[in-house]
This record gives sequence, C-alpha cells and structure tokens, in this order.
Amino acid sequence: MHLVFLGPPACGKGTQSAILVQKYDYYHLSTGDLLRQEIATGSELGQALKQTIEQGVLGSSEIVNQLLKKDIENHRQMSILFDGYPRKMDQAIFLDSVLKENKGALKRVFYFDINADELLQRVLNRVTCNACGAVYNLQTNPPKEDGVCDNCGGRDLVRRGDDTEEVLKSRIQSFYEETAPLKDFYQERGILTVVNARASLDEVTKQIINVL
Ligand SMILES: [Zn+2]
Repeated sequence: MHLVFLGPPACGKGTQSAILVQKYDYYHLSTGDLLRQEIATGSELGQALKQTIEQGVLGSSEIVNQLLKKDIENHRQMSILFDGYPRKMDQAIFLDSVLKENKGALKRVFYFDINADELLQRVLNRVTCNACGAVYNLQTNPPKEDGVCDNCGGRDLVRRGDDTEEVLKSRIQSFYEETAPLKDFYQERGILTVVNARASLDEVTKQIINVL
C-alpha cells in the first residue's frame, strides 16, 4: 500500500521517489507540487496561497490538508508515495484519518538518516542543468563527463539559488524540531525503516526495495 518518505531537505528522498515511481508505478504525492499546481490554476484558494507564500509563509496545515485530501481521493486506487508530508504530528494524524476514509493505510515509513553537516556538504555540491533541470551532486552523483549534462549535453551546470547555507540551515532546523518526532510515532507502530542516507544512491535504493 502507501509509503512515506521522511527526511530533511537534500537527504536524497526526491531522487529516491523518482526511482520508485519509475520502477513500481507509485503515485508521487509531493505537497510542494500540490501547492504550486493549485496556484497555477488561478483558483480562489490558489490566489490566497500565492499571497501567503509571497509573504514568506508556507501553506498552512489547513490548506495543505485540504489539497492533500482531494489528491488522495483522486488517486485512491494507486499506491501513493508521500514525499514532504506529514511534516508535523497533527498532519500525521490527519493522514491516518483520510487514508482510513479511503480504505487505505500506510505500509511503511522510511526515515532518511543523515546529519546536518553532511547535508550541508551535499547541498553545496549540488548543481542543476540550466537547460533541462537535471540535478547532479558533484560528490555522490556527478555527470559522466565533467561539466556536461548526461541528459541533454548542456554545459551550463549551476548551483541552485535557494541552496544557500543560511536557508538550508533553517529548513534543517525546522525538520529536526517538527518532523523528526514522527520517527518515534511510526516506530511505535512497527512500520518504520531507518535508511542510511549517507550511502550511495544505489545502496539507498537497495535498502528501500529490500523492505517493500
Ligand atoms: Zn541538461
């Protein structure tokens, strides 16, 4: 059934989500994408969201929950991979109730274990192709040819603007304060798997697939 990826920013869960979606047909439910999609529709809710985000506030739990519920209902026949949700205890409880209404349940929750210093190193090594958006890590997942995008052959690999040390530190801090306690919550239910997120890309994939 459904999976959750819990982990701090830049821990590699986005990359692993893409691999799982491709291999096993999971529906990738990213709340960040949901917010962006809603804004793009220009709906009343989307306009309200745009305002709050422009003011530097992330979508409130209430709005995120509303969008999430709709998206779960639309994809109830699929196995869903939750990426970036839940972030807080109240969201974890909400998720349980919505899944129950839709006759679903969480099968497993993966916690991507990595410390803040290592994350920082990763982000400072992360580059994006300006032409096609492909993401590389010069340490763990470099392009085959130095400075050239594997995907499109572009030669303009740049660091992403929001990957500054300061922004990352604050996002990491909020992860450890708000989200990390969910680890115990799922551990007590016996559905938690701790993934060594310091391992290479392929090894992390193996750790996940082994318990699916
Ligand atoms: Zn490219």
